Amino acid sequence: MSALSDALKAPRHPAGANACKFMQVFNVLDEEDKTNIGESILLIRNDISMGKSKQYSTSWLAKILRSVGHDISVSSVQRHVNKECSCERIIK
Ligand SMILES: [Zn+2]
Repeated sequence: MSALSDALKAPRHPAGANACKFMQVFNVLDEEDKTNIGESILLIRNDISMGKSKQYSTSWLAKILRSVGHDISVSSVQRHVNKECSCERIIK
């Protein structure tokens, strides 16, 4: 097979390519952490209080992820929590 025919057969979007920054971090976590982070996301989505009264926030979660060595910004977490990230776009 030629290089061209190989290239033509390669999928345009390999699996996982559309995962947002948050999911790229999430995907390398172990199962227990995935469960915990999944629950945290729900807590943030369900915490409707504003400003300083917020117990669970995207900056809180980003800080925790950064503290264990993941390079993730608050805005990456925010987009995923708000369902404005690239992984939501494929579902729609
Ligand atoms: Zn996402």
